[in-house]
Amino acid sequence: MIIDNIEIELADIKLTRPYTIAYKTTSSIKNIFIKIILNDGTVGFGSSNVSKYVVGLDTTESYKNALDFKNELIGRDISHLVSNIDKVENQFINDPGSKAAYNIAIYDAFCKSINISLGSFLGRIIPELPTSITVGIKEIAETIEEINEYYSSGFRYIKIKLGDKIDYDIERITKINEKFGSQIKIRIDANQGWSIDDTIKFCNETADVELIEQPISVDNTKQLLKLPDNVKEIIALDESLVSYEDAIKYSQNNYGKIFNIKLMKCGGITSGRKIANVALLNDIDLMWGCNDESIISISAALNTALSFSNTKYLDLDGSLDLAKDLVSGGFYLKNGIMKPLDKPGLGVDLV
Ligand SMILES: [Mg+2]
Repeated sequence: MIIDNIEIELADIKLTRPYTIAYKTTSSIKNIFIKIILNDGTVGFGSSNVSKYVVGLDTTESYKNALDFKNELIGRDISHLVSNIDKVENQFINDPGSKAAYNIAIYDAFCKSINISLGSFLGRIIPELPTSITVGIKEIAETIEEINEYYSSGFRYIKIKLGDKIDYDIERITKINEKFGSQIKIRIDANQGWSIDDTIKFCNETADVELIEQPISVDNTKQLLKLPDNVKEIIALDESLVSYEDAIKYSQNNYGKIFNIKLMKCGGITSGRKIANVALLNDIDLMWGCNDESIISISAALNTALSFSNTKYLDLDGSLDLAKDLVSGGFYLKNGIMKPLDKPGLGVDLV
């Protein structure tokens, strides 16, 4: 089947729950939607929302790049999956936003054209996994209130954003532990807000933390090498680990036992899989994270994640707070556990 047309939209989407992390507060987001329309009417969906702070360009810039490129794909045969993917990979080396949106749309259209789910196509080996859900930087009482709310909806893995002031961070986690004990598992994201000494102090003075994302600044990633081995076991590289080249670099030595892969950092399923394979070869566990994103790209990440045996952590709550989305479906979410729908492609439908 031939790619007949491509539609690209830049949408402004409000968040139902604005949030604060170590470096900013967010109340609405921009998201690119790409529809690849085949000559039999089949539509492949792609989407992206990149963080300029992490990848150096924003979603509006990606949108312009994506528009400029669409005529290059129109007229191509969707069955030529590998060459279509290569074309996108080579076009958008420095633009993970355009790359991810096109990459996901090509996979969705291709899988639909052969009537297979993306999960089957990638070879899903993990049926389902729990995702964490995130609480931003808040006062202790508000934090506990929000965790209670997530707990009643069935979530058991809670990610807490820290990185403000280390003593208050320790106090927040201590209070949460006192309140919830083993009822929940706690993940931390310090978003570069700590020093190495803060990180060690935090680990010495808190208990039962499953992992810590990006404790220190990207500029000081090398300092992670100084952490004791038992701390490295729970360190996840996030902002430091954007590209395949980063994955190669940070797997040469023990910077941390976990890589946080986001399709919105590396640029889609193909790039995500390259990083995941580097991690697999180097005995590094995988966490799959996200930005505030459509169900489209979250489903793409979920299916990619579940096709790797070293995937240990899902953090794919990015579509839950969008006030509106282009599609529904993609995955089941029950009691915090995510499972892809067994339908062609991503399994999403226009709302
Ligand atoms: Mg993070």
